[in-house]
Amino acid sequence: SSDSNLIRATIFPGDGIGPEIAQSVKQVFSTAGVPIEWEEHYVGTEIDPRTQSFLTWESLESVRRNKVGLKGPMATPIGKGHRSLNLTLRKELNLYANVRPCYSLPGYKTRYDNVDLITIRENTEGEYSGLEHQVVRGVVESLKIITRQASMRVAEYAFHYAKTHGRQRVSAIHKANIMQKTDGLFLKCCREVAEKYPEIVYEEVVIDNCCMMLVKNPSLFDVLVMPNLYGDIISDLCAGLIGGLGLTPSCNIGEGGIALAEAVHGSAPDIAGKNLANPTALLLSAVSMLRHLELNDKADQIQDAILKTIAEGRYRTGDLGGKSTTTEFTNAVCDHL
Ligand code: NAD
Repeated sequence: SSDSNLIRATIFPGDGIGPEIAQSVKQVFSTAGVPIEWEEHYVGTEIDPRTQSFLTWESLESVRRNKVGLKGPMATPIGKGHRSLNLTLRKELNLYANVRPCYSLPGYKTRYDNVDLITIRENTEGEYSGLEHQVVRGVVESLKIITRQASMRVAEYAFHYAKTHGRQRVSAIHKANIMQKTDGLFLKCCREVAEKYPEIVYEEVVIDNCCMMLVKNPSLFDVLVMPNLYGDIISDLCAGLIGGLGLTPSCNIGEGGIALAEAVHGSAPDIAGKNLANPTALLLSAVSMLRHLELNDKADQIQDAILKTIAEGRYRTGDLGGKSTTTEFTNAVCDHL
């Protein structure tokens, strides 16, 4: 019996710590009275020929139909020769931009107090096109694909994001001095879009220099846009600036208004099943999903409760130097609601 006033959203609990932190999101949402009905989907145990992956066609259809979802981390076995689950999702659902906000959490002290960065990562091509083969024995090749279409799309998204979120600056991160054709095309697209946004400062920064600047003084940056591989690495670096992977959310933006939120981190096999994971990253990802649905009151309420719990410091998980379990932390967030 489903209530027609409820918004349907897809949830993939995922692997490793995924089910534990997904449980935390469900508990917090139900305590906050969020009007969402979850359609729960698990990764299959055999390859679905329609997707060439362990993700079923029904799972993909669920996201396409609902247009919003939340995903836990999915483990990709190295060298097993089938398509990565994350790559399948990104390609099949055309999730072209991955947005990763990263800001200092009040009350949780790190080297920097005022980190406030947004990395926007191209999500469908670059080195992650999944096009690798052996040329001859002992020589392998991986194709880095950069297209005008995908670069324009992510650049447009980055500038639009900057404008609608009151941001001042967009930095395009690249290595066009070496990768002249690929990163060169990416930069050309960013420049073209930048011209349409004269109110936003545009700059180009070489990736190695960007890393050095970020760890020395993160306030030099505002919104960063970049090809796939660089985005993967830089966003983990940014997570490190504010206290680690347990804290940083992200949202994948797809064609036709699809939003699939997920934590930046992976399945954390070292702590899986032990009730030790920090659910904050997935909770904040769920909050970004609520903002996408324009359920801003609920989003604010939940975000405040999370930030208060962390600031108070009584209940913190191991990654933040505390002793609390996932359940204890989640209960504390619920108490603040
Ligand atoms: P990981 O992010 O799973 O773990 C890195 C370290 O961070 C570990 O020490 C882990 O315990 C810790 N950590 C991560 N999330 C945490 C949390 N919420 N609370 C506390 N500690 C946390 O990275 P990995 O070990 O390189 O990857 C493990 C698996 O996850 C691999 O199969 C990889 O392919 C997959 N992965 C999936 C995604 C995704 O689904 N988006 C992203 C990255 C990695």
